[in-house]
This record gives sequence, C-alpha cells and structure tokens, in this order.
Amino acid sequence: MAAWGERLAGVRGVLLDISGVLYDSGEGGGRPIAGSVEAVARLKRSGLRVRFCTNESQKSRGRLVGELRRLGFDVSEAEVTAPPPAACRLLQERGLRPHLLVHDEVRSEFDQIDTSNPNCVVIADAGEHFSYRNMNRAFQVLMGLADPVLISLGKGRYYKETSGLMLDVGGYMKALEYACGVEAEVVGKPSPEFFRSALRELGVEAHQAVMIGDDIVGDVGGAQRCGMRALQVRTGKFRPSDEHHPEVKADGYVDNLAEAVDLLLLHADK
Ligand SMILES: [Mg+2]
Repeated sequence: MAAWGERLAGVRGVLLDISGVLYDSGEGGGRPIAGSVEAVARLKRSGLRVRFCTNESQKSRGRLVGELRRLGFDVSEAEVTAPPPAACRLLQERGLRPHLLVHDEVRSEFDQIDTSNPNCVVIADAGEHFSYRNMNRAFQVLMGLADPVLISLGKGRYYKETSGLMLDVGGYMKALEYACGVEAEVVGKPSPEFFRSALRELGVEAHQAVMIGDDIVGDVGGAQRCGMRALQVRTGKFRPSDEHHPEVKADGYVDNLAEAVDLLLLHADK
C-alpha cells in the first residue's frame, strides 16, 4: 500500500461516522471510544472541514447529539447528516404519506409529515418495536398498495452496543422485500445520494474528502463508490475479517479515530 502521505494527499474535509467511531451506544447513554473526544476536538481545531454522517435511525438527532455532548463531544445537530431528515425531504417531494415502522424515539422527526391514509412504508431501526404485529402491519399496508413503496432508513446488518452486537434494520427490510416482492429504496449510507448530500453540507468535492467509519460496506464501500477515500477503524463493529473483505478494500485501516486524526494532521491539506 502507498505511504500515508500519498493516500491522504489533498484531503480537505472529513466525514465521521458516529456509532462505533465516536462511541458505543447502549444503556445509560453509552460510552466514548478511548481517545475519540479529544480526536474530534483536535480535528475541529485543525482547519479541516468536519461533518458527522450517521445511519442512526433509532433516536432523533436531538437525543443523539444530547448523548454525545454529555460524553464530552463537541457536536451540534446542524453538523449531523442523518437519515430521518433526508427521508422527510424525499416523502415531501414525492407526496408520500408513510406508515411508520420506527422507534418511538425517532417519531418526532416525522411530525411535519402527513401519515393519514398511507401510500408507502418507512422502516427504520425500531429495536424492541420490531414485533410480529408491527412487521405484519407494515406487510399489510404494502400488500394493499397497487404500487408498493418501501423506504428503509439505512440497511445495516448489525451494529455494536456496549452490551454486544445488535441486529439492525437491514434484516427486517429484507424480510418485507421478500414477503411483498418489492425492492426497498434506501435513505442513508451506503446510498450515493446520501453521501452526496453530506458532501454538499461538508462543502468539499468527493476527491477532497475522507470518510472514517467502522462499517466496511456501508461506510467504506459506500464512500469509495462516490469517489471519496475511506478509512476503517478497528473499533465498534469492526471484525478482523473486514481487512480481507472480498469486495471492499479501505484506503487504510487504523486502530481508532485518534490514530486516524494523527495521520490526517500529519498528511492532509489544512
Ligand atoms: Mg458505525
């Protein structure tokens, strides 16, 4: 692999995944990953542009940012690109009225959306709310539509909480796709449109940006397909087999966000 200086040349902006990079979520608000609070602060002081790009769909941005701030992170809601606001834009543009299969914690993000007489289903990481009853209700809504539309907030397979690996929305999305014979539209990583909106908000071109995440497919593969560079951290859901993934090769693997920031401060354009 080329030297770090070559791999990070010309980087002017950084997109940071949140869960598994900044912190591991969980009971009592989760816990920060060692060195990440300071790493975010150093990055922000460096002159590089920084934005947070998450697939979090189990809690509102307000709740997420509140948790992060309590752990010591310097982050505001305006700096976070997350699926619920992007989904709301898409619903409004297309005149869609969703049946929401989402966690109660994120329902407030859809307050401005008409949910009467649904003509689509929106599925997110509903956690404990993924009961048979709720899945079947979403199935019935889709089957009752002449032209069923299923919108999924991310399609992750799993993520890591302090208590262990947790099943994500992707498996439930696939179940509805299979049962209803539809293909979901994904809002969130690795959707190119989602990365492009994060880049617009970051204010740099794809070739000037690097994504840092713990998901080899959703973060690294997705960002690379948009022309960005991407580093995988060996924290969060990282597994050693990710470094030998059959389809995705990161531009670099680092032990944690602190190491990524050390390298960026040495080699990126500031
Ligand atoms: Mg993550």
